[in-house]
Amino acid sequence: MKTLKCDLCEVTAEGETFEAWMQNLMPHYMKDHADVMNDPKKTKEDQQKWMVENKVRFDAA
Ligand SMILES: [Zn+2]
Repeated sequence: MKTLKCDLCEVTAEGETFEAWMQNLMPHYMKDHADVMNDPKKTKEDQQKWMVENKVRFDAA
């Protein structure tokens, strides 16, 4: 089980895998970073980039 910080703040989420971590982080993201989630300027590419960057962080944790 890995514990990794949110990429935007100090809140942490846990997960056995990157996918599980992302699922555990999601409620926090919806609550505290809803503006980021709902940013109409964000594209699918931004999402992909987020996944890649955070997977790297997860793997390094
Ligand atoms: Zn956060």
